[in-house]
Amino acid sequence: MRIGVLALQGAFIEHEKKLIECGAEAFEIRQLRDLECSFDGLILPGGESTVMGKLLQELNLMQPIRERILGGTPVMGTCAGLILLAERIAEDDTVHIGTMGITAKRNAYGRQLGSFHTTASCKDIGTIPMTFIRAPYIEQVSTAEILAQVDGKAVAARENHQLALAFHPELDASPLVHAYFLDMCR
Ligand code: GLN
Repeated sequence: MRIGVLALQGAFIEHEKKLIECGAEAFEIRQLRDLECSFDGLILPGGESTVMGKLLQELNLMQPIRERILGGTPVMGTCAGLILLAERIAEDDTVHIGTMGITAKRNAYGRQLGSFHTTASCKDIGTIPMTFIRAPYIEQVSTAEILAQVDGKAVAARENHQLALAFHPELDASPLVHAYFLDMCR
């Protein structure tokens, strides 16, 4: 199993480590020609969605990645990656990749709670640790299904081959989320 990890900015190395730990192969997507090789799934990491969105445009990666996802390539977006996938961002006209039926609320937890750690149950995955860093939450879903909630806020959703998480599974010891995503790629 070969998974491409968008490596323009943010926490991509941690995803690569997790994939290797789960027995998959990871390679970095940094430019258009990296999309030419075949891969079974794609990870959009956490970082800063505005910066990543800008780089995706400048490097002409936005539309090709959108097409890959619409064509059925499984994708997992974590934190800023969730924002990239969202069809709508609350109080913002920006749409980045926009393939997933969710509305993302950016920096949604306020200043003090910008970063926190908890454990919660996630449908089909189990009880997992969740690390939030200046995280968004999912304010609304249209076509996606909510998989997890923390304090009444949706923090994970799936829509067919697309998985979006407000937290950072690559930063915790549990391999369960990556293993689940690899199952989606099979
Ligand atoms: N606050 C960031 C954004 O809006 C997301 C933070 C993260 O990915 N850890 O893009």
